Amino acid sequence: MTLTVLNPATEEPIAELEQAGAEEADAAVARAKAAFPAWRAVAPGDRARLLRRLATLVEEHGEELAQIESRNVGKPISGARGEVGMVAQVFHFYAGAVDKHHGETIPVAGGVAATFREPLGVVGLIVPWNFPLNISSWKLGPALACGNTVVLKPAELTPLSAIRLSELCLEAGIPEGVVNVLAGKGSVVGQRLIEHPDVAKIGFTGSTEVGRLVMQGAAGTIKRVTLELGGKSANVIFEDADLEQAAASAPYAVFDNAGQDCCARSRILVHRSVYNRFLDLLVEATRGVKVGDPGDEFTEMGPLISAAHRETVASFLDDSVQVAFRGDAPGGPGYWFPCTLVEAANEDRIAREEVFGPVAAVIPFEDEADAIRIANDTPYGLSGSIWTRDGARALRVVRAVEAGVLSVNANTSVRVQTPFGGFKQSGFGRELGMHGLDGYSEVKSVFISTEG
Ligand code: NAP
Ligand code: MG
Repeated sequence: MTLTVLNPATEEPIAELEQAGAEEADAAVARAKAAFPAWRAVAPGDRARLLRRLATLVEEHGEELAQIESRNVGKPISGARGEVGMVAQVFHFYAGAVDKHHGETIPVAGGVAATFREPLGVVGLIVPWNFPLNISSWKLGPALACGNTVVLKPAELTPLSAIRLSELCLEAGIPEGVVNVLAGKGSVVGQRLIEHPDVAKIGFTGSTEVGRLVMQGAAGTIKRVTLELGGKSANVIFEDADLEQAAASAPYAVFDNAGQDCCARSRILVHRSVYNRFLDLLVEATRGVKVGDPGDEFTEMGPLISAAHRETVASFLDDSVQVAFRGDAPGGPGYWFPCTLVEAANEDRIAREEVFGPVAAVIPFEDEADAIRIANDTPYGLSGSIWTRDGARALRVVRAVEAGVLSVNANTSVRVQTPFGGFKQSGFGRELGMHGLDGYSEVKSVFISTEG
């Protein structure tokens, strides 16, 4: 079967690929299994050198990769360049981590106890369409650093950058069979990887709904799973915050990647005493977001990923919703959707479900306790921000909010060096930083008797 890949900004085909099915998935797992013994035996310094070379190749091919990602996802080229820069950093980081992730010796009676970090074997990586290359690297870097071999399944809509990355892996000298990329459907290839007895772990990023299927499917073979799922994060604005700065940065926190961002701060909680003033500032800042051609250096927001997704996003904006601002968007072709701000209560559907589009719900709160209550009144727990000039309050709120990744007086979530992942139904397991290695290795404990 042929897979036609579209540019969501023009609706034009940009590639035709052979679509993988269950048979190809089995063959890829077999290749990865065959490559595992030799790959795990590569000396740490040599494995580090290969990852370092891959990082350098990503840098050298940075513009090409950014163009691929921009055309396939519809994301602004400036953002795509930044993302590719991060991919290179990820491989540099994990190149450096290969020989710094080690076991320990533990004092015990009658001998010596030691731990080893063993690779898992073949790992299946299932990736969504919003940050295809970035999220692939977050899994691939630690998986390879720990000595695993990989079958990577990008989303059906956005396979191009992962396919190019697999070619760069070979060019870097990573042996054939270590990294296998399959363009195919989640319900076919993804499902096969989840159930395959020779796959030891699934590293999954995607929706909470499919995350549940991954957990269920993995139960059959007691596969390890890491789940990075949806979010409905809060951006909490206290009355003593730098309101100008908070408002200037709030649009980026929701409308980046056209709101198709698991960390989107799509609930903006504002203290009632500054609510009207903040909303005015936020509307002005949102009016300034430049929506249009993703190839333009100055564009800040592109289209949504598909016609079907645009329908889902639009379905949230029925007559019951109080729209405070709706921006401009090109008419078409392309799956455009305007930046939209709505005034809402936390009980409303728009404040409860992940819209995954450029729509933010602005919600008033009464005091610190109320802000914490509302921030936590969601099944999700991925990300969030707290804006205040009171350091003690910032720490109190940070400790009380049930989410894996928080910022104070900033709206960023992702750094190569720091752990990333969710609480509650946003998933479990951590990616990035040294914590990212834990999900791709198994701890082995060994006792060696010293008694003669
Ligand atoms: P999705 O529908 O859950 O798909 C994610 C991946 O799973 C895709 O590769 C998809 O393949 C595959 N898949 C679908 N059904 C499957 C099945 N039955 N078995 C195995 N694999 C299956 O998510 P999406 O629509 O691509 O992305 C949006 C979601 O991802 C949002 O909820 C967002 O919050 C979440 N996300 C989370 C993070 C995080 O780190 N927490 C980061 C980014 C995105 P096909 O698309 O090819 O069918
Ligand atoms: Mg989907």
